[in-house]
Amino acid sequence: MPNKPKQSLQPWQQALANAYTCPQDLLDFLSLPHTLLSQQTLEATRKFPFLVPHSYAVRINKGNPRDPLLLQVLPSNQEMQLTPGYSDDPLQEQQAIKTRGILHKYQGRVLLIISSGCAIYCRYCFRREFPYAEAQLTRFQEETALNYIRDDTSITEVILSGGDPLLLSDSRLDRLITKLGNITHLKRLRIHSRIPIILPSRIQPSLLHCLQQSRLTPVIVVHSNHPAEINQEVRTALAQIKTFGIALLNQAVLLKDINDQAEILTELSEVLFDAGVIPYYLHLLDKTTGTAHFDVTEDQALTLMESLRTTLPGYLVPKLVRETANAAYKLPIA
Ligand SMILES: *Cc1c(COP(=O)(O)O)cnc(C)c1O
Ligand code: SF4
Repeated sequence: MPNKPKQSLQPWQQALANAYTCPQDLLDFLSLPHTLLSQQTLEATRKFPFLVPHSYAVRINKGNPRDPLLLQVLPSNQEMQLTPGYSDDPLQEQQAIKTRGILHKYQGRVLLIISSGCAIYCRYCFRREFPYAEAQLTRFQEETALNYIRDDTSITEVILSGGDPLLLSDSRLDRLITKLGNITHLKRLRIHSRIPIILPSRIQPSLLHCLQQSRLTPVIVVHSNHPAEINQEVRTALAQIKTFGIALLNQAVLLKDINDQAEILTELSEVLFDAGVIPYYLHLLDKTTGTAHFDVTEDQALTLMESLRTTLPGYLVPKLVRETANAAYKLPIA
């Protein structure tokens, strides 16, 4: 008897299944020596996994161990160092978890944590140590989380977050978005996702239709840190989002040796705007364990902002912010 046909994967799901899961394989593809990794580096991937899809790997310059895209994803033994002032939950997000899947910290907006996974693992991630096993929304607790939103009429915007919310299938997103659309006090649906940048093949008309048809006004906030991340494939995906009339913003993280130069940040803003994206936030690094080697000081950040304000039109200057534990909004640094 022939085998039962396997449920076929969408091309983007197949691309994710074929992603590099081991740093040595990525180094081979980039013609770089394995000596860039030590035993300690490999231990770092046991704490926080390694994942890089081929669609991202092709944007890394071969043979360059200091490539700014590579540095975002290549594990380093510095991750194993403990640094004073760095902790597993610097934003005290766990206090803001109201019920499973709901992170409610700011007035009027709630984060719905619907995915623990991402399409890439960024070594500087502030949710490296996030307790997804306890906090992530599962299909079974969805009603409790939706009731939390239904019961609080001050909430006007739901932000799908994670991990990366666009890892969910279209059908699951569609069902969730329909339920959210039925909550009458909601006005906007925001999606925080790095996937349009990392795995642009995920951006399909079926997904965008579902957002367009919702009663809620959709906003997509992507996450790109470097102009070299925006290649033709990404531009095409972003242009497709725009044709559905969806607002597109970018948030970036200021990262040492990756984008801590005025020319790079200027180019990032220009390249994003050309692709239909407005720069929104530039985040100072959150002080999460294992990320201290990415930190850029506040003074350096202020000098960079001064250059950006001088060279760019005001609407292309992102807001420099720091996320803190007990503030009513992300604190502007000026
Ligand atoms: C960043 C963030 C938001 C959204 O804040 P905006 O300033 O509206 O972009 C909401 N909730 C949490 C917990 C956040 O970290
Ligand atoms: S995509 Fe976002 S949540 Fe995922 S690892 Fe990168 S920074 Fe963290």
